[in-house]
Amino acid sequence: MPSLPTPAHLRRVWEALDTLPDPTEQRPWPILVSGCMMAWGCGIDGSSYGMERALDKLKGLDNICWVPVCPEHMAFGTPRRMPDLHDGDGHAAIEGRARFLFDDGQDGTEGILAASAQALELAKRERVVLALLTDMSAACGSQVISLGARDASPRRFQRGMGVMAATLDRAGIPVMSQRDHRTMQRLLSRLSPGYVVEPDALDHHEHPWTVAHFGG
Ligand code: SF4
Repeated sequence: MPSLPTPAHLRRVWEALDTLPDPTEQRPWPILVSGCMMAWGCGIDGSSYGMERALDKLKGLDNICWVPVCPEHMAFGTPRRMPDLHDGDGHAAIEGRARFLFDDGQDGTEGILAASAQALELAKRERVVLALLTDMSAACGSQVISLGARDASPRRFQRGMGVMAATLDRAGIPVMSQRDHRTMQRLLSRLSPGYVVEPDALDHHEHPWTVAHFGG
């Protein structure tokens, strides 16, 4: 069966999950999380996109200390226009080789870089052990994001990170997405002893769509 290589950033998540001390109610794991997954109305239209459902299995656990953040809201407020990354991913934007542009052509690169730096400061202050971020976002994505405007026809995609995810990754913070279901099983196993792992769960780069799109 064709496959795509496991991205290095996900291997760092696995290493962290293998080595972190057990989380307890007294010493919970601080986890940075995309605000929309905490049901914040920080999406471009003021909704959460329904993203809170992605955390259903983690809700109610008392050994996590959630640290929510929305870099786009911090930089541009809500509501706002749809941004996407052009000519590269978040790492390329940090290196000056890609731009974070809104769908009206406005350039938000400087704003999202500044907000991502703020988010990194928050992550350091709260000593987060992991970042669990919404994939496909030009700020929070970590596996697959749009390449250029998402309303282009045909829409193009790239394997890569959004700007905040790349900022965290470069600072050594393990980053995963809500679509990394296999890794989510490992996370649940650490948080809920006795959790029965779903053996067929796939990470986003293993999903048949991703493999077919990017070639295995
Ligand atoms: S920038 Fe991140 S936290 Fe904010 S709405 Fe988009 S995906 Fe959610």
